[in-house]
Amino acid sequence: MQHHPLQSNAHQSLESETIACHECDLLIHLPPLAEGHKALCPRCNHVLTQKRRNARDKVFAFAISAIIFLVFSLPFDFLSFESKGNARIVTLAESIESLSLYNFESIAILIFLTTILVPGIFLLGLVYVLISLSVNKMYRHTQKIAKFLFSLLQWNMAEIFLIGILVSFVKIASMAKVNFGLSFFAYVLFIIFLALTVSNLDRFQFWRWVKIHIDQNQPNLSQLKDRGV
Ligand SMILES: [Zn+2]
Repeated sequence: MQHHPLQSNAHQSLESETIACHECDLLIHLPPLAEGHKALCPRCNHVLTQKRRNARDKVFAFAISAIIFLVFSLPFDFLSFESKGNARIVTLAESIESLSLYNFESIAILIFLTTILVPGIFLLGLVYVLISLSVNKMYRHTQKIAKFLFSLLQWNMAEIFLIGILVSFVKIASMAKVNFGLSFFAYVLFIIFLALTVSNLDRFQFWRWVKIHIDQNQPNLSQLKDRGV
């Protein structure tokens, strides 16, 4: 990976864009990056943006894989417990639902939202925007969804849920025999592909793709005249 030489003052290219450093708020004029390059903040060395090779294709493939594994994590056995001849099998939804049996409905709803619904909506929204970009068509909600997408990420807690499950597993293992089911492994793969999607999705580059897409699909003035606007 090569670092792009960056200056926060003069010598800007005409196509440069202004970007604020997330760490120190410095405003920087960013010239267009070559593939494989990344830009660092000249003041605090924070990575401002990175132009990875085939980023769009990679993000699309990872997001589709994450959606498939999320769907597969729902219908099958998630965990099974065996103790003194009694056995119990739970699905992912049942393991969340069991919290409401202990009068923790609000926690159960919050876990459902942050571990299944929000990451699911994020992935579907991302795939929607990426398909819109790749067929070069401005779908009805492309711009709105693109704006909304990143705010969803702060509500994603799928990894934390998995860590919680593993901690409980260690505690329960001394009292009962616990087995992981097919849905559990699908959920682990979902988390891995979700993490790959997010780590390959550069926010600044994503906005560049969307901006170029909007510019290309905006009706120009002569077209508007022809339509009598
Ligand atoms: Zn900085």
